[in-house]
Amino acid sequence: MKKNILFILSCLLLLLPLTACKKNSEISNLNINQGNKLIKQNNIINKEKKLLLVSFTILEDIVRNIVGNEYNVESITKPGMEVHGYQVTPSDLVRGSKAIIFIQNGFGFELWAEKFVTNLDVERITIANNLEPIFINEDIYKGKPNPHAWISPKRGILYVNILLEELSKLDPENKEKFKKNAQNFKNKIKKIDEDFSLFLNTLQKSKRYLVSCEGAFSYLTNDYDLKEAYLWPVNAESQITPKRMARVINLVKEKQIPAVFCESTVSSESQESVAKETGAFFGGNLYVDSLSKKNGPAESYLEMLEYNLNTIKNGFNASLKN
Ligand SMILES: [Zn+2]
Repeated sequence: MKKNILFILSCLLLLLPLTACKKNSEISNLNINQGNKLIKQNNIINKEKKLLLVSFTILEDIVRNIVGNEYNVESITKPGMEVHGYQVTPSDLVRGSKAIIFIQNGFGFELWAEKFVTNLDVERITIANNLEPIFINEDIYKGKPNPHAWISPKRGILYVNILLEELSKLDPENKEKFKKNAQNFKNKIKKIDEDFSLFLNTLQKSKRYLVSCEGAFSYLTNDYDLKEAYLWPVNAESQITPKRMARVINLVKEKQIPAVFCESTVSSESQESVAKETGAFFGGNLYVDSLSKKNGPAESYLEMLEYNLNTIKNGFNASLKN
């Protein structure tokens, strides 16, 4: 190294034309060769990226936004799938055995997760351990925490903070990188949070009801000064009973709620009946437990938040025009 530096210095000092410094080109060739070697080594490392296994697609996207290309991130449940009552397959267990960590929502969302991890020797991150719950206040789930906190952009930011901390503990070397990624991602969530607040301010307070199929919007309604009503508390219990149906119909009529909604992973038939019965506008399906399949409208967490916001906005606007 010393020799090379002396050689370069002597070239410069003697003001020789660069072409005369043949050794220089040899040095840069050496660098290129070393560079190629590095690229090759990186490719090998890429192929051997460690696996972070996640319970559902929304969390998969959030985790990927934080870790970038450092890890393989895979979800147990696929896009468009119902998550609560999922049945674990043998291939999930194989993937679980290869993962360095299993990341789940908690609050009883993944009914299958306990059984899944007891068969594996894998560390676990549970978001709910660091999150304040909102409790379900009616029906057979009364008193249990509502698991759907990610639906609120404000809580989405908390998810990123919790994951950033946990993933930085797992991989301290990449802490700064994760922090930068997380900040970029949070800025984008914050923008949707602001858009949502702006829209809600335009709505008459008495009509600020979000009526859905699953009672998955408690965090959203709590964080944005809305009230909520639903056909069933969680999708694991998605049978519609005449009593539940009548309760929602009466409320929509009584409060003159302009629009009702369902969600992408269940049938919207019952909610469309509510709309017909009450004259409310059926505003469409919101994304709650799963991202959409490829080329769908909610392939990422940010797209999902935006899609839900626009669907709610359009539902209310269309109903107010009628
Ligand atoms: Zn759900």
